Amino acid sequence: MSKIDNILKKDTFSREDIVSLLGLQGPDKTALFAQSARIKEENVGNRVFFRGLIEFSNICVKNCLYCGIRHDNDAVNRYNLSDKEIYDAARFAFQNNYGSIVLQSGEVETDSFVKRVEKILQGVNRITNGKLRITLSCGEQEKSVYRRWHDSGAHRYLLRIESSNPGLYTRLHPGAMHDFRRRLDCLYSLQETGFQVGTGVMIGLPFQSLDDLAGDLLFMKQFNIDMVGMGPYLEHVDTPLYAFRDELLPREERFQLTLKMIAILRILMKDINIAATTALQAIDKLGREKAIKIGANVIMPNITPGKYRDDYLLYQNKPCTDENADDCKTCLEARIALADNEIAYGEWGDSGHFKKRVTGDK
Ligand code: SF4
Repeated sequence: MSKIDNILKKDTFSREDIVSLLGLQGPDKTALFAQSARIKEENVGNRVFFRGLIEFSNICVKNCLYCGIRHDNDAVNRYNLSDKEIYDAARFAFQNNYGSIVLQSGEVETDSFVKRVEKILQGVNRITNGKLRITLSCGEQEKSVYRRWHDSGAHRYLLRIESSNPGLYTRLHPGAMHDFRRRLDCLYSLQETGFQVGTGVMIGLPFQSLDDLAGDLLFMKQFNIDMVGMGPYLEHVDTPLYAFRDELLPREERFQLTLKMIAILRILMKDINIAATTALQAIDKLGREKAIKIGANVIMPNITPGKYRDDYLLYQNKPCTDENADDCKTCLEARIALADNEIAYGEWGDSGHFKKRVTGDK
């Protein structure tokens, strides 16, 4: 039996095992994907949950070196959707049986921002009779703020760690405004507040090793995370990290590495929700379908009004920015059928892992 067969037989993986799996090519890689696809089918089924993504503001106080909407990028048109635009998008998701939405923005910690999010949460719950699950992705906040937002009707929160290696994190997030310890504390606060907690990392960053990526997967497992969204790093010309573009892996390799990360994570954490991120599609037209086939079970169709989408470019060549929400839905239905999966319309699709975590089974 080969070394890889021996690793794949295990229930859990060491850091060295994961590094070996991330390096797989050819038939060994196919064997990894076959195993993760089987584990997906057995544990979460060949079903995909929709989360309608509303990018309601691109205003951000932070300066992450890789991000196209970082505070110091003056080339961006800053916007804030009106309440009506947000409610119209939420109504679209509700009427089209999406089950869930994600409200995402840059990071702002002012009182007025906190109150506005509270008001929006209450408004969305009012117009949809509390039937839409709401995920928030609004960055680091005080625990009291997370509690207020949870009390106002948000039940899931996405806060990507981006890299679980403190040294690499600090290199990508320099200066006093960024703090790895605070990011971790926020993740713990979210768990303690009762949120289903999601995180994620970028794959193929400059200065990042396979050992770092193995550490990221072990971090997710150790943290007992409920949901994960991770995608290939895609460079943006108006960011400081663009200076290191010549040191990057070719895009196809970043793409393949991302698929392997998803497959390994599905084997490590069988019942979590894993998103097939849009960044995959920016490299390969069938990127999200390929991720669904080998382990992902969540897709986030963009339902932000089309005129704003070009102003929420965390990376360049983001797909679907010129489509309206209807186009996006039709195209996704065809794509998911191609991946031999079906869309679980009208279901919240809560993470099975979360349910076990809160009842003490995990
Ligand atoms: S990654 Fe998030 S916190 Fe960092 S600059 Fe971009 S929007 Fe702001």
